[in-house]
Amino acid sequence: MSGLARETDAVNLGQGFPEWDGPQDIRERAAKAVIEGPNQYPPMRGIPALREAVAEHYGRHQGVELDWKTEVTVTSGATEALAAALLAVLQPGDEVVLFEPMYDSYLPMLRRAGATARFVCLRPPSWRVDPAELATAFTDRTRAVVLNTPLNPSASLIGAEDLALIAAQCVKHNCIAISDEVWEHCVFDGATHVSMLQAPGMRERTIKIGSAGKMFSMTGWKVGFACAAPKLTEVFARAHQFLTFTTPPHLQCAVAYGLAKPREHFDEMCAQLTRARDRLGLALKQEGFHVLPATGTYFSGVDLRASGIDMDDAAFAVRAVKECGVATIPFSAFYVRPPAASLVRLCFAKSDATLDQGVERLAKARRLMA
Ligand code: PMP
Repeated sequence: MSGLARETDAVNLGQGFPEWDGPQDIRERAAKAVIEGPNQYPPMRGIPALREAVAEHYGRHQGVELDWKTEVTVTSGATEALAAALLAVLQPGDEVVLFEPMYDSYLPMLRRAGATARFVCLRPPSWRVDPAELATAFTDRTRAVVLNTPLNPSASLIGAEDLALIAAQCVKHNCIAISDEVWEHCVFDGATHVSMLQAPGMRERTIKIGSAGKMFSMTGWKVGFACAAPKLTEVFARAHQFLTFTTPPHLQCAVAYGLAKPREHFDEMCAQLTRARDRLGLALKQEGFHVLPATGTYFSGVDLRASGIDMDDAAFAVRAVKECGVATIPFSAFYVRPPAASLVRLCFAKSDATLDQGVERLAKARRLMA
């Protein structure tokens, strides 16, 4: 969709990146470190200052106690952390439980590790876990579950109750949870992010994954963190060693500085995102679109059928970009089994002008296709 958006010079509400750069002081810190160093290989698990900052940050913001020396690994983005976690934990023949809709890297990576997937479907509008469906997805071959909270693309959170359901299955079947929490700081309306590390029985069997790119609105930075109990971190770090070995030291220095920022900094980011979400949502509703609630991430979902557009989401997305100059992402891209609903994902981390222009073009698409 981004390729099509570039070709057609469309307003890109598809790909999830903010239209603004991250905090200037963090970028200055990185620039200073490029000039003054260090510029040689940092330690394989990450520079101590960043690992300490990660542990301090999660302790302060989420009440998660971590020993930075034995429980934190710095990675080249969450994508690398996900790959390292899957390669570390899985053997050929293992099964992994995934929740649809799901982020696109999980399935290809677990297949490369020789594993197969079993799916649990989360459905709008609640996106809650169905306990019976969950129980049947786990077998005696299940080795891991990959979950994502806040969840891209549904913009929902997996609450403590559903985390506990998943945790109970992990404990029962002796599984590891790979918990993709990259959107942990993009949470709105007073909702609270709960980490899988805090679910009952999961402290020793969870790899919690974070992303500085998402925390600081600089998606190109590709600095991630994997936090897990010492034994799990040992295995994780071995996989990480042969994927990227390490991550540019200047970015690590700057992220360590950023993580120490006061709570108000992160609150202001959420307030800015909330304003953008509401601007987009209100304007879309005025144009007759049915907008789903969005409690986390950079995204809002639009239900096409409930908006009077009886089309499948992929067909709508292609016509919207080609004929009306606005890029969206069809939810079906996040499923293996076609979903019942026809939904598109819109990124609201954009300037007011882009959001307004995007809505104008979506309104045109609705007039054309309804
Ligand atoms: N997981 C999810 C759910 C994401 O949305 C993204 C980025 N869109 C990533 C992982 C990748 O994060 P990073 O850029 O740090 O590799």
